[in-house]
Order: sequence, then structure tokens, then C-alpha cells
Amino acid sequence: MGIEKYVRKQLLEFGGYSAATSPETLEDKIGMSSRDIIKLDANENPYGASPRVRKVLGKFEQFNIYPDDGQEKLRNLLAGFSGLEMKYIVAGSGSNQLIDLLVRLMVAENDEVINCTPTFGVYSFSTKLVGGKIIDVPRENDFNIDVNKVNDAITKKTKIIFLANPNNPTGNLTPEKDIVVLLSRGIPVIVDEAYYEFSKQTVLPLMQKYDNLIVLRTFSKWAGLAGLRIGYGFFPPTIADFIRRIKIPYNVNAAAQLAVEESLKDVDYLMTSVQRIIDERARLFTGLQEIKWLEPYPSQANFILCRVKGREAKKLHQQLQANGILVRYLDQPRIQDCIRFSVGKPEQTDALLKALREIGG
Ligand code: PMP
Repeated sequence: MGIEKYVRKQLLEFGGYSAATSPETLEDKIGMSSRDIIKLDANENPYGASPRVRKVLGKFEQFNIYPDDGQEKLRNLLAGFSGLEMKYIVAGSGSNQLIDLLVRLMVAENDEVINCTPTFGVYSFSTKLVGGKIIDVPRENDFNIDVNKVNDAITKKTKIIFLANPNNPTGNLTPEKDIVVLLSRGIPVIVDEAYYEFSKQTVLPLMQKYDNLIVLRTFSKWAGLAGLRIGYGFFPPTIADFIRRIKIPYNVNAAAQLAVEESLKDVDYLMTSVQRIIDERARLFTGLQEIKWLEPYPSQANFILCRVKGREAKKLHQQLQANGILVRYLDQPRIQDCIRFSVGKPEQTDALLKALREIGG
């Protein structure tokens, strides 16, 4: 062993997180300019950010100055936006960073984290990184969680229950009554509402009642700021305090802080884009249903998971990629025969459905 003998032995086999492919890296491979590539693989917002964001960032003259480490203005704005006081709020470089910080705060080696699979990969990624143990509780056939099974998985070592709501990649919601059952056990329940604006269902009002509830949100999806990396969360104030103490300094960059400020001045505009995506979700769902070898699952988010019958989903992913259409294939148990399509603009839906029909013969 060379220099890698200095790597923590638990990490020698660590596989990492496999993120969506960036179009630039595909340009040469498929002989297409990244501008012509239809990107439906990372649940991004096809309508982009508020035009106010680009205008203000273009004129900003203080990129040489560190941003506010305490996020005072940002947290104040988010408090006004959400109706919860600042002491409950911390922002991160994407909600991914907040997931990671929560795990680092609460999970020691061999502690357990409950994960309702199939679900978002970062929960297990961060848990394994700190040497924690992921306890997978498989969802039912319709991808609903069986709250009794989750309850039964709780042990003395359980430190976190993660619940993406709506769930990624399946798109379904867990009813509030089930979340309340889990909250009543007292263990931290992290309800990840990254897609809240597309589902309009939230457990935020329960924050006042349960001091073990944490709700995560992001500007990546509804506000079209995925590239600037800005998420936020609502935490019991003592936990918010700890998160602020353990985060790296200046974790939210100056451009992201400004972009939030401008986005919050343009919520009506952004919600119009959200509504377009919701409308398009219905159209894409119908289009996918009409293809007889596809079986889409109803979704409350900005993507649709679809079972592929009679052919390999992995191969379909590659065939679409060769046609310049990027979609997500997730090599996870129970969904190896599925593809996740992000909801794009109507013309992107048309191109996707046309390509699927052509591939299908
Ligand atoms: N949670 C869920 C369920 C997600 O799907 C994503 C993005 N794919 C995130 C969190 C992270 O979002 P971001 O870091 O961009 O805020």
C-alpha cells in the first residue's frame, strides 16, 4: 500500500455518490453540443432562476469579500418567508450539506440511521461516511412506507429517521398521520421537503409541537438555483445552534445569498414556473401511460418514475442518451427496471415521447 495507507480503513471500499452526468462531459461522447442536450436527469427547473437573480449578480461588485458566516440577513429573509423565527433556521450549500451536517452531528460509529428505500442516496452516503449503520426499511409495492415496519426497525442505537416527502425517486407522499406516529417515538425525524413546492404538502406546522422534527427545503428545484447550491432547514433551536457551530465557515456563498434575496422578491414569477411544471407533469404522465411498455408511477414532485417492461431500463437509458436525452437510471434494488424522468418544458416532453416511441418500435 502506498499513500492510501493513510486513508481511514473504513473508506477504502467506499463507493461515493454517483451524481447525474453533466452535459459538458457528454458533448464529445455523443457528438452533440451541450445546448442541444435535453437534460431530464437531475430534477432541475427548466425555466431557470428569476431574471432578477442574473441582473443583480451581474452587477455585484463584492465577490472579493467573504459572505456573512452567521447568515443573519439570509435567515431573517427565510424567517419572513416561512413564518418561523430565525432561531429555527440554518442554510447550507444545498440541502445536501444540511443532511451531511445532521448526520455528523448525531451519528457516531455503529449508530443506526433508518432509511425508507428506495429513496434519495445522500442519506446513506453521509451515514456510511461517518461509519454509521444504514438500516434499510423497504417501502411497499406502491412505495408507501409501512409505518409499523419503520417503528419495528427502531433500536436503542437509532439516531435519525430520514423521510423524503415527496420521496425521490418514487414521487409519492407519506401521509402526515404516519409521520406523527414516527415523531411520537422521540427520535429525530428528518422530513426532507426538497420538492414541497410541487406537492404543497408540508409538516412544518408540527415544528411547534415536536422537538424532534427537522424539515429540510431547497432553492434548487422551485427557484431554479441548483447551480448556486442553496438549501435551508428548520431545526429545533438547540439543534440549529449546534449545526451553526459545526458547519464550515462561510458555507453559503455570496452569490447564493444574493440569489435568495432576489428570488424572494419574485415568488409569484417563480410559482408560475412551478405551476407550469405541475401541469406538464400531468401531460408527461399521460404520454408515458400511452406507451404500452411503460408504467409510470403517480408523482407529487417534478419527476416521474416509470417501470420499463419487456426491455432493460439500463439499456433504454443509454439509447436515450445516444439521442441526446439524459434521464436517470438508478441502480438500486426494486427499481432496476425503472427510469426516472424529470419534468421539462412541453417541447422537451414531446421530444422525449417521440424518442421513446421510436425506440419502442
Ligand atoms: N433531498 C432530496 C430528496 C433531493 O432529491 C435532493 C436533490 N436531488 C436534495 C435533497 C438535495 O438538493 P440540494 O442539495 O440541491 O438542495
